[in-house]
Amino acid sequence: MNRMGNMLCEDFLKSFESDLDTLLKDRKHEEIASDRAKAQNLLTEIAQLKPLKVLIPEDCNGLGGEIADCIRLLSVASYRSLALSLTFGINWALCIQPVQKFGQSPVRENTLKDMADNGELGGLMITEPGYGTDALNMKTSAQRRGDVFSIKGTKHWGGLTGRAKYWVLTCREMDEKNNLTKDVSMFLCDVSQPGQNIKVEELYQNAGLHMIPYGINQLDLKIPVSHRMLPESTGIRMMLDLLHRSRMQFPGMALGFVHRILDDAIDYCEGRIIGKSSLISMDQVQQRLNEIQSSYTIISALCHFCSRTSYVDSDLSTMSFEANATKAVSTDLMQASAQAGVQLFGGKGYKLDEFIGRAIMDSRPFQIFEGSNDVLFTQNGTFIYKDMRRKKAESFKDYLPENKYFKHVVSQACVPADILFTDRPSQVELYHFGKIVSYVFIIGALQELGQSGFRSDLIASATAYLNKLIQYETISLKNIDSKGFVVDYQTNATWHQIASTLAV
Ligand SMILES: Cc1cc2nc3c(=O)[nH]c(=O)nc-3n(C[C@H](O)[C@H](O)[C@H](O)COP(=O)(O)OP(=O)(O)OC[C@H]3O[C@@H](n4cnc5c(N)ncnc54)[C@H](O)[C@@H]3O)c2cc1C
Repeated sequence: MNRMGNMLCEDFLKSFESDLDTLLKDRKHEEIASDRAKAQNLLTEIAQLKPLKVLIPEDCNGLGGEIADCIRLLSVASYRSLALSLTFGINWALCIQPVQKFGQSPVRENTLKDMADNGELGGLMITEPGYGTDALNMKTSAQRRGDVFSIKGTKHWGGLTGRAKYWVLTCREMDEKNNLTKDVSMFLCDVSQPGQNIKVEELYQNAGLHMIPYGINQLDLKIPVSHRMLPESTGIRMMLDLLHRSRMQFPGMALGFVHRILDDAIDYCEGRIIGKSSLISMDQVQQRLNEIQSSYTIISALCHFCSRTSYVDSDLSTMSFEANATKAVSTDLMQASAQAGVQLFGGKGYKLDEFIGRAIMDSRPFQIFEGSNDVLFTQNGTFIYKDMRRKKAESFKDYLPENKYFKHVVSQACVPADILFTDRPSQVELYHFGKIVSYVFIIGALQELGQSGFRSDLIASATAYLNKLIQYETISLKNIDSKGFVVDYQTNATWHQIASTLAV
């Protein structure tokens, strides 16, 4: 983008921030949080400010879609409302970027211009009731007849269900024998067009994020071939590129959210007097605040890393390690910060009309959607374990200098010498190991942020926090109780029955 475009975007972001504050000023958080209709009306008002322009390239009437600007938009929004930020995130990574990158002209231009000029919204439907984590086995089918694809299936949990005009739909095409092919295809659906209306069968009572409608959808659509997304190689790689790019925008949503919790918590702890002292003077309280502040710094480092790596024209399909670490760690830190914030606020933290009162439920699904964190960490553990074997490293510590990210943090990352695998590790070992390797990667991102001029005391404190997490995970890795869980646990497991037997 040219300098002029950059300044326009900067001015837009500033005025959007103040317009948003004006819009939110008179609304009680509780009203927005507990009343879905009011929250969704508010979204319509905000969409009229045309914030999606920031996310859209200049040739489609946007302000450029520069990654750093888009990440900032997400943070501006999440400082005020996590649901609003997720709405922007959905639109950006799950609709605008795939249409921009894989859409055919003129559908690409017409769609993006409509979103930029008219505030129309978009979303993505991958998940099916039987296929969530196991999405590649999805059953939604696409069958070509002439210039039209007939798409049939059931999708659920698509963010902005019944509300978005544009939907990126994933499905599997039928071969000549009417079998589903292995590869995944993506289509752009415009619900305002004949044959493309998506039937909402049920709206879900989602427990948080009330601004965003979710539900179950029946697809029985006729989509023109011109709306098929064109992959550069396979459809699965196209979907991976989409998912990894999306995971790499999570720090934008996480940053404003954690920043808000930090500011509110400092403010509250300074003002709240217990006995003769303020909360903030107590070292236990400072410890919790330090964890929130470290999360803020770590997520800032991830924003910095992603703003330099996730350009729309780069192929992210192979960057699973970086994308998984970025998404899983930033969303874990969102939830941990929400938990710490609620604890500090005491009873006040359990009220819906406080930002913090909704924070736990609003941030919880971030650990589930776009790849369950349980699975993402396990994948990262597996990835590094395999590379250790390939490079014949005896232990993880020996391996550090062999990895393009880890070699820069050999002296900063406190990695015990005895993380090594003699046998093939179990899934749970790979999970804990995956957390360790993700933290080590992020220590590198912190160092880079520090070198770019970010406050060194915050960098040091966040690095210490990650090293503490590495120690926790190392202990978990070494103390796995693989025989501890019993499915059929009822016999002799009701204390009062046993007590009454003894009494007789
Ligand atoms: C608020 C919210 C927003 C969403 N937004 C969208 C959206 O916009 N578009 C969309 O398409 N979908 C969306 N989803 C759906 C989401 O992506 C799925 O819920 C998610 O992929 C998990 O699938 P599932 O619910 O079927 O759970 P399951 O696949 O049944 O998994 C449940 C849990 O089992 C465990 N698990 C599963 N597989 C493994 C494994 N191999 N190893 C170890 N543990 C495992 C994990 O802990 C996982 O969290 C959203 C969901 C929520 C809650």
